[in-house]
Amino acid sequence: MTKKLGTDAPVLVVGAGIMGAGIAQVAALAGHLVWLHDAREGAAAAARDKLAATFDGLVAKGRLEAATAQAALARIVPVAALAEAADARVVVEAIVEDLAAKRALFAALEDLLAPDAVLASNTSSISITAIAGGLKHPARVVGMHFFNPVPLMKLVEVVSGLQSDREVADAVFELARAWGKVPVHAKSTPGFIVNRIARPYYAETLALLQEQAAPPAVLDACLKAAGFRMGPCELMDLIGHDTNFAVTNSVYEANFYDKRYQPSGLQREMVAGGLLGRKSGRGFYAYPDGVPALPVPVVDAPTTAGAVTVHGTGAIADALEAAATAALAPQGWGPARVTDSGWCGLEVDGARLVLTDGRPAWRVAAESGIADIAVFDRPVVLPAAPGSALALALNAGASPAWKAQAAAWLHALGFTPLPLADAPGLVVARTLAMLVNEASDAVLQGVCSEDGADSAMKLGVNWPAGPFEWLRAWGREGVVGVLRALDEEVRGERYRVSPRLLRSQD
Ligand code: NAD
Repeated sequence: MTKKLGTDAPVLVVGAGIMGAGIAQVAALAGHLVWLHDAREGAAAAARDKLAATFDGLVAKGRLEAATAQAALARIVPVAALAEAADARVVVEAIVEDLAAKRALFAALEDLLAPDAVLASNTSSISITAIAGGLKHPARVVGMHFFNPVPLMKLVEVVSGLQSDREVADAVFELARAWGKVPVHAKSTPGFIVNRIARPYYAETLALLQEQAAPPAVLDACLKAAGFRMGPCELMDLIGHDTNFAVTNSVYEANFYDKRYQPSGLQREMVAGGLLGRKSGRGFYAYPDGVPALPVPVVDAPTTAGAVTVHGTGAIADALEAAATAALAPQGWGPARVTDSGWCGLEVDGARLVLTDGRPAWRVAAESGIADIAVFDRPVVLPAAPGSALALALNAGASPAWKAQAAAWLHALGFTPLPLADAPGLVVARTLAMLVNEASDAVLQGVCSEDGADSAMKLGVNWPAGPFEWLRAWGREGVVGVLRALDEEVRGERYRVSPRLLRSQD
């Protein structure tokens, strides 16, 4: 049906708001004639004026040639009526997020444009199948989901509804690539790729807060140590709790109230009270100050031990062995190593510092018959930067001596221990396991490929790695183990394991 959309294909951008202006900018810079239309009188011309100022700024900073900027600006033409853009070969709509409005717009455009012109929607949450429903040519409707700010964010989700023609999706995919973006194919399902797979990043932190596991700044510090640029609390404050809560709600509703996606009562309370984040001056943090610095914990060196053994196999056990060897070297001895004990961590005179397998410390203690148990979170970035934050939880029944020594040993191994309540899977392991689980379900349902999910999360929300990269580094059994342990503690549908994760071969 649709052939290649080269630079000779005029583009109509409808909606000259924050997204539409950005889309017009990238399309014009890529060489297309861009008609820009907005229902609000004067809005398209105002957006063009703003783009002129943006181009001037880029030229002044040496990031754009003056001639290129001038030519691109000349290609952006505000139009007062859609009929003036009847020769458009492709439309990208970025109007209000409302199904009826988007349907009405595309229905009007069907009567104006050639039958094979492409209709693309930048919707972030509405079903593409629904937008195309009732049109004469629903096959030409696809999603072209950009991320904000459009000129900077590389990802474009190219979303196919049930009636979308694959050739149309492929043409839009190539178009996005020609505009300097990294497109990823997605199926029209709630949240598409990024907004769906990212849900647990917020949800697990909100659950940990509700369980009173730790204050927001501690949870943020744990996840930043795992490589995330922003912790979930500061990120939700930035996005706005009203927006974040609305997206979670829409994914929850669209999944027929599957408990996996259940919104947080705490966040609902914050929205109700106007604690919306940065924009209202108060969310988890008070602004303009933002995230408070965590107090630097005073941790003494561990007392001299009689026997120290590193347990386990793999990269984390190897890193622990290297760190324990360095810590004991001044005393003139080193740790023993045992690889077949079925757990990973450090044993000090019979007391255990255990890498989380999802079980809380009390359960590890009950099942091992050893009271002196502390559980630590999963270090993701190895070798860890000296002093990396790492959550630590103690078995309530541990001896006072081990309660002090567990933190001292984690510190001696190179981490800054952040005390947490005895939360199953602590922070990083719990969050990553749920992100991997969600991504596995998305692939199971044909929403995207594994590579598509990895690219989308790295480029759409700047994650340090993709969920399937984490899965390969961690191993299927470890991820499934944490999910099963969480399910054991919190019975219900939330932590059910993706069937694809159970059957995958890595
Ligand atoms: P915005 O409010 O900044 O801009 C929307 C513009 O559309 C306004 O100028 C408005 O006058 C115009 N408009 C509304 N109804 C219209 C109609 N029927 N015909 C023509 N123009 C109309 O909104 P935005 O943030 O740019 O979002 C636009 C779309 O992009 C929405 O579907 C949104 O979900 C999606 N989106 C937004 C973001 C984001 O971060 N803002 C990210 C991805 C996708």
